[in-house]
Amino acid sequence: MAVAARGVEFHLRLGRQTEKTKFNNVAGDYATVVQNGINAYLEKILDLQAFFEASEQVTTTEFSMFTEKILAGYDSTMRLVWSPRITKTERTAFVQKQHDNGETNYRIRSWRADGLLPVSPVREEYYPILYTTIEGAKAGTYGTDLTSEPQRSNAIARARDNDTLAIAQDVVLLNPFVQNRSGFLAFLPVYRWGMRHDSVVERRRNILGVVVGVFRTSKVIDRVLDKATLPRNVDVYLFPANASADSAPVYMRQVPGSEVPKDPVSKASLMTLPYWASLPISAGDASWNLFVTPANGEFGSNMRAWLVSALILLVFGAVLAYLWASLRHALRLEGANTRILELAQTDILTSLANRRAFMKRLNMAFAASLRGAPAFAVLYLDVDDFKDVNDTLGHAMGDKLLKDVVARLKAIVREEDFVARFGGDEFAILASNIVDPTQAATLAMRIGEALAKPFLIDGHKIAVTSSIGIAVFSREISGPEAMMVQADLALYGAKDEGRNCYRFHSRDLDRQVHERVRVADELRAAIETNELELYYQPQVELATGRVTGIEALVRWNHKTRGLLTPASFIPIAERTGMILALGNWIFDEACRQLRAWQAEGIAPPVLAINVSGVQLKSASDLESEIEECLDRWSINPGNIELELTESVLMEATQKHSVTLENLRRLGTKIAIDDFGTGYSSLKYLTTYPVNRLKLAQEFVFRVTVDYRNAAVVRAAIRLAHELGLDVIAEGVETEAQVRFLLGAGCEQAQGYYFSRPVRVDEITTILREGRVEPKTGTTRRFTSAA
Ligand code: C2E
Ligand code: MG
Ligand code: MG
Repeated sequence: MAVAARGVEFHLRLGRQTEKTKFNNVAGDYATVVQNGINAYLEKILDLQAFFEASEQVTTTEFSMFTEKILAGYDSTMRLVWSPRITKTERTAFVQKQHDNGETNYRIRSWRADGLLPVSPVREEYYPILYTTIEGAKAGTYGTDLTSEPQRSNAIARARDNDTLAIAQDVVLLNPFVQNRSGFLAFLPVYRWGMRHDSVVERRRNILGVVVGVFRTSKVIDRVLDKATLPRNVDVYLFPANASADSAPVYMRQVPGSEVPKDPVSKASLMTLPYWASLPISAGDASWNLFVTPANGEFGSNMRAWLVSALILLVFGAVLAYLWASLRHALRLEGANTRILELAQTDILTSLANRRAFMKRLNMAFAASLRGAPAFAVLYLDVDDFKDVNDTLGHAMGDKLLKDVVARLKAIVREEDFVARFGGDEFAILASNIVDPTQAATLAMRIGEALAKPFLIDGHKIAVTSSIGIAVFSREISGPEAMMVQADLALYGAKDEGRNCYRFHSRDLDRQVHERVRVADELRAAIETNELELYYQPQVELATGRVTGIEALVRWNHKTRGLLTPASFIPIAERTGMILALGNWIFDEACRQLRAWQAEGIAPPVLAINVSGVQLKSASDLESEIEECLDRWSINPGNIELELTESVLMEATQKHSVTLENLRRLGTKIAIDDFGTGYSSLKYLTTYPVNRLKLAQEFVFRVTVDYRNAAVVRAAIRLAHELGLDVIAEGVETEAQVRFLLGAGCEQAQGYYFSRPVRVDEITTILREGRVEPKTGTTRRFTSAA
């Protein structure tokens, strides 16, 4: 008997114990749901903060577009607000600005519990509500200075000083149309863009305003709980954590027929119930207690029935639920984080990167270039007269125009370039791989041209122009911010200059680049109008005077400046990319001429053509261009020698070495021009498929006066021979040099001593002769002077 009674009692105790465990689990679920729900709302405010931080200025349209986007799927449970910080001295201008924007009733007002908001007396600073998601609330709360009420004011101060999410926990909301006005406000500080906020002093100085989330407690928690699937047999109460034992809850939700008396409810009264659970809820620097009680004293009715099975299920269920919840939590968090990051770095109108993302990129680029990566440029672009479009055709039209501008920008920049919108009509482009400032100028010019073509928007033809400020990386610039300042100043310069143009940050650079661009333009025209001409210089076999080849050297018969040698325009052509067109012309012209000589039967065995390193690097398909040209004129590739300078070969990357190999395979010869002036490493001689060395004229010039020079030249000749390469000496001007070269075993030479570069008719005469006599001194035989 006694044993049985003890057994029953044990079962009952066990049952009650299990019942309590289950209740606690349910209470825990409620707390989790409420906490997660509040977190999800708070994330919206973080989004908004990130948005403000990333933009220099946010317009009312941008505010509503952004908040609409982040609140999509949420109802109006939470309101979002932007309150800038306005100082005493800024007040008048600030209010005036709102009037100018059409908000003629805008005043800075003081908070009052009765909802009548009198115009604020003079204070040191104000945080008036400026933008808000509250529909039709402008009449009510618009302009209210949030610091005119102590709780809000304290929370703003905490948010500002600690750079944190601060909560005004238990406040009376302003909206007089709502019955239960108990709510809480969440404040996040926004500091002035690009300003430090590491210390309290800096934070106070540089605060721009606060973003605010306004919550009506009952509405928020009701919504969160309504959406969740939870057992419905409990009552829920929310108290601020620091509320006194007898104070009323800020939120309560009792199931119909709840046995817990509705009034008055306090922490103290709930704690007298047989079951109750108190769970912490927190947001920012505030915390609450969520009290959960069974709706009808006891929890669960058919206790014995689940006694055994439920116990087992419960354990499994708890483990599964825990795993499931933590997995979901992790996933949700991750999703939220990516989204926040995305939003914080994107311009909502155009989906371009925003200023924040741009600065990040710029910081990276700057650091990379400091470490030796190729330089880059920042182009700061402003659409001229955009404001007029906005004012005359409306913001919607302005927005469309901006989108079209972006489309054109995107079509022009290279894949490796980075485009961002800084807000308004300002854009920034990070152009990477800028080896020469002229490339940035070329890009700016193309952008300028593209944007100057009229836009057709909704049947309106809109013509705008653009101004661009350019800053080019250099080690002298102190950092990315300084570079932005330079680009900005350059942009002002461009505006000053009458707009529709680009300017560099430095006056000198600006002049140089504009000059180069001008020359490049002229050069382009020169190719079309046949102002270019090839001169030819014979290459001579020293022993016999026989012409073994000729080198084509380009000249420019400039309309106003007369005959120009390559030194005055090839470097510019290289910098501006014009060298590609120029190179094509030269190759075609040389081949055409060679074909003519071949037809006459006087062609030299080799025609040497200079190829610029830029051609090797930038021409997408140099070998097929050359092959095509040779085909066009039916030239045997073996009759062509490509001259490349030593430095080009040294810089040649794997890709270019393939190009070189292909050219060799095609059958053209390859010579190293200006041998000896480049690098000290001779490794490339064994790496690249070279036929001939051209000894640089600097060396040849001094062979007879400087014994060390002479030694170098002798060594170079021997080296060439040992590698099985031909050698030709450049810039031979005197008989003494010829004698030296013969003695050193050099077979061929080129230089004024034999002939200057001459026009086609003259070289044709020389070719007919097949040999040249020296221009200076007495006639001499070149038979082995050695
Ligand atoms: P380079 O290929 O080394 O050409 C030899 C240069 O030395 C030519 O100058 C030629 O006129 C000059 N020269 C020849 N013999 C003598 C001499 O005895 N004494 C002196 N002092 N100079 C002599 P040019 O025609 O002014 O060309 C200069 C450079 O411009 C060339 O150097 C070449 O690198 C480049 N260049 C010329 N034509 C072309 C071309 O068609 N395409 C490319 N990419 N570059 C070219
Ligand atoms: Mg040459
Ligand atoms: Mg040379």
